[in-house]
Amino acid sequence: MKKFFVLLIAALLWTTIPAQAELVNDSFASTTARIEEFYSTLPQAKGDYKVRQRPILIQGAMNVETDVLIHALKNPVAYRELNYLFVAGTYKNYPVVVVRTEEGLANAAASTVLAIRKFNPVAVINQGTAGGYDINLHVGDIVVGSLSVDTSAIKTAYSPAGSGIDFTRQEMFGTYAFDESSGNFQPYSEYHADTTLFNMAFAVANTHGNFNVVSGTIGTSGSWNNNVDYINFLREKYGTSCEDMETNAVAQICHTAGIPFLGIRVISNSAVTGEKFSVESATVAQNFVLLVVEDYVNKILRASKS
Ligand code: SAH
Repeated sequence: MKKFFVLLIAALLWTTIPAQAELVNDSFASTTARIEEFYSTLPQAKGDYKVRQRPILIQGAMNVETDVLIHALKNPVAYRELNYLFVAGTYKNYPVVVVRTEEGLANAAASTVLAIRKFNPVAVINQGTAGGYDINLHVGDIVVGSLSVDTSAIKTAYSPAGSGIDFTRQEMFGTYAFDESSGNFQPYSEYHADTTLFNMAFAVANTHGNFNVVSGTIGTSGSWNNNVDYINFLREKYGTSCEDMETNAVAQICHTAGIPFLGIRVISNSAVTGEKFSVESATVAQNFVLLVVEDYVNKILRASKS
């Protein structure tokens, strides 16, 4: 009898767990498709981008990370360059361009370069979702990046064949960006946020108490890490609060181009706390970023004009 119930419960679990997992993916896919459909209704740009003020460029990799931003734009116009989508409009009467960078470092860098050439932005904010490294960070919390690092730009210690794998024996290699003083590209182990944008984000956090915002280092790589021992190692070695797949690549390009940059990431999942990916978290980052943009426009860009 007891065995029967154990089997029954096991059978129930077996049938319900995969169904739940499918549900999560389904809602992500259908949300993505719904947003895509909306983007296809936007007016398509004809000719060059012409505005009097240099726009602010805001980036998100996935549809769920750009949706709120693009809906917030007045008079949105879509530009497509090499199949990347850029939407130009105004926010609080100031020109803003939102780019869907697509996922990963190469896409983030490529779409940033295209945007710099086409729109000549005055500042770049890269934002979106991230995996939490800090046990005290939960889904919906925001990390404003004082620094970013590429946790895959490393050199591992030599070890002979058959001696096993120990990735903890590694040193930061860095990523190459233009160095003004030497006049050539040099390796950087990290990139600093623009101080004005960074301070602006904390001023916003202080005036709007509904966001839980911390300062931290954003770790970027092409990987999604679920190995908590490795995550803890990275956090210990590089001080990273979270991981994503774009921030440092954009910081690198902005450093080379001499454009002020800030990375803002919302925790959407955490292997450390066991929280699964939340699509809704992406809206938290976008709402926060819009407040930062509004303050930056009013207190910095407009103030410097007068
Ligand atoms: N396209 C996938 C979702 C990818 S999530 C899907 O269909 O399910 C990867 C994206 O989210 C990247 O753009 C990255 O910046 C961000 N991200 C969120 N959590 C992450 C994590 N734990 N590790 C790495 N990237 C993460």
